[in-house]
Amino acid sequence: MDLQTIAEMEGTVAEKCMELAEILELTEPVSEEVLYAAIYDSNYARNLLNCRKQPVFLQHLLANPPAVPAEKKVEKLDASSQVALVQKMGEALWNWGKVGFTRVDDETNQKRLAACMSCPNLSDPPEALIYKMAAVAASNKQICTECGCLISRKTRLPSESCPSPHPTEPDVTRWGDPIH
Ligand code: SF4
Repeated sequence: MDLQTIAEMEGTVAEKCMELAEILELTEPVSEEVLYAAIYDSNYARNLLNCRKQPVFLQHLLANPPAVPAEKKVEKLDASSQVALVQKMGEALWNWGKVGFTRVDDETNQKRLAACMSCPNLSDPPEALIYKMAAVAASNKQICTECGCLISRKTRLPSESCPSPHPTEPDVTRWGDPIH
């Protein structure tokens, strides 16, 4: 399955790559290989979750997903295979993801989003990244040019911070958090 096909699937494999990234508190979608490996190899999925807070180990795992037999991959996501994929995600990963999966509260998210929406560093994504964002609604595709992150994901993750100082308050970021 090529990237173009993934992009045209409107929120199936591509969406799951984004959702898994959210669970792992990443702002970029995981690769298709990582997604399939996490679905079909419970040890690998468990290791990903266990290493969420350890960037070096997590990056190593993300760069080295175990191979998944070709016959296990969903080549064409018709309605029934989509259901099967989502069910498999639920069995293998989703319930674990709920455990300890944290997002900031709505108030914090809205405050962050408001700051981003009025920030000069907000930009449309480069052409090269658009294929990765097939699962993201058009209005949510904007990125921060300071860090390259997808804003609609970044603002929801507790581990994220704004990389830019506030224009009138040098001690805090544009999100209003103290600069250490
Ligand atoms: S994260 Fe900060 S620098 Fe980036 S767009 Fe949002 S407010 Fe601007």
